[in-house]
Amino acid sequence: MRIDILTLFPEMCEAVLSESIVGRARREGLVDIRTRQIRDYTDDKHGRVDDAPYGGGMGMIMQPQPIYDCFQSLCDELGTRPKLIYLSPQGQVLTQEKVKQLAQEPNLALLCGHYEGVDERLLEEIVDEEVSIGDYVLTGGELPALVLADALARMQPGVLSDDVCFTEESHFSGLLEYPQYTRPPEWRGRAVPDVLLSGHHANIDAWRAAQSLQRTAERRPDLFAAYEKKEKQ
Ligand code: SAM
Repeated sequence: MRIDILTLFPEMCEAVLSESIVGRARREGLVDIRTRQIRDYTDDKHGRVDDAPYGGGMGMIMQPQPIYDCFQSLCDELGTRPKLIYLSPQGQVLTQEKVKQLAQEPNLALLCGHYEGVDERLLEEIVDEEVSIGDYVLTGGELPALVLADALARMQPGVLSDDVCFTEESHFSGLLEYPQYTRPPEWRGRAVPDVLLSGHHANIDAWRAAQSLQRTAERRPDLFAAYEKKEKQ
């Protein structure tokens, strides 16, 4: 899968994308994530990419031309038009289901807004979907784009040691994951549940399944209700 992040702050993205599991996956060619500097495509001789909002108000708005030309140059380079996602607090809130769906795309482009956002005409002209990472507002789309890129990267074959690493995790099946423990068997008077030390795999699986259901019911009744409804169908 190839992901191109269209941004005014590529160094900010590169710093995160070079580290840890995603950094290694990129170096090993398991996922191709690149950044594209929107400012490189502005027609303005002073390198401007934003201007004041028509109608007045606070802040600056990203102009359509540099983003449009940046995206067109990406389409030309790829020889195809990737699905373009605008990271926006007004978009559909990201879920693991959405990540699963987007992970099937061979090419994705992620547009990061900044300042007060992006001229609406650009969004109407080329954006396919708007995705939010939650009901709060950040200063820019870089962190949301990195969140989405990370969630997509870890679902690509070979990035994690085994598919079970993500299929058993919270949200994949609609439930939260069971509690996890490691050495030592007792810490500050708190013991690891006996069943996990028993070596009895069927009992361990049953305990984990029960914990997963209980935890979801207690912490996320909304998810639990949706899970129960799906199971009954
Ligand atoms: N004026 C916009 C509004 O009220 O909807 C908010 C603009 S925000 C300050 C600047 C940029 O940050 C946005 O263009 C978007 O790319 C990004 N952003 C902020 N919060 C976000 C969120 N929750 N999810 C995804 N992107 C977000």
